[in-house]
Amino acid sequence: MSANVTLVDHPLVAHKLSYMRDKTTPSGVFRQLLKEISLLMAYEVLRDLPLTTSRIETPLAAMDAPFLAGKKLVLVSILRAGNGLLDGMLDLVPAAPVGHIGLYRDPETLAAVEYYLKLPEDAAERPVILVDPMLATGNSVSAAVSRLKQHGCRDIRFVCLLAAPEGIAALSEAHPDVRIFTAAIDSHLDDHGYIVPGLGDAGDRMYGTK
Ligand code: URA
Repeated sequence: MSANVTLVDHPLVAHKLSYMRDKTTPSGVFRQLLKEISLLMAYEVLRDLPLTTSRIETPLAAMDAPFLAGKKLVLVSILRAGNGLLDGMLDLVPAAPVGHIGLYRDPETLAAVEYYLKLPEDAAERPVILVDPMLATGNSVSAAVSRLKQHGCRDIRFVCLLAAPEGIAALSEAHPDVRIFTAAIDSHLDDHGYIVPGLGDAGDRMYGTK
């Protein structure tokens, strides 16, 4: 596994992910599980956030208590499936500003085509957590990272649920500075760019559109 990849393989994550993969799991349960996994993953992704201390008083004594230091994070969701991971992360860091990047995959070439972009004004000054459940070809994520870099963002982490080896290789080559966090690394991509065994189309599974 390449050095820039962190596999979040906690038993709770693995257990919930198996239910998500099961094709009989209904969309409401699928969304709930995705949110729960994103909370668990956030714990790992945000592990090295810098802390500062402030003086507080507990009922018993004064102490220098740790609080998060520095500028708040920016969360950026790749539409539409990214919103499932976004929800859990936002529960943990509710004050974080949120950006959205709309990308769809050209069904013929599998290239990423941008149709929407809205980022917080000061995104470049903040660490960015980019979320999309599926790292398949890596085309969408690489395009999203390039866009973020055009806006001046430098500290970018990418969080997904499932990654294909092909996607990890493509993203690592295009953007070796981006750390990748995933709950599983699957076998391969099929001819249509779907992750095998995977879980199908994450957006369709989330919103019951197929
Ligand atoms: N996007 C999905 O939703 N699923 C895949 O398997 C690949 C890309």
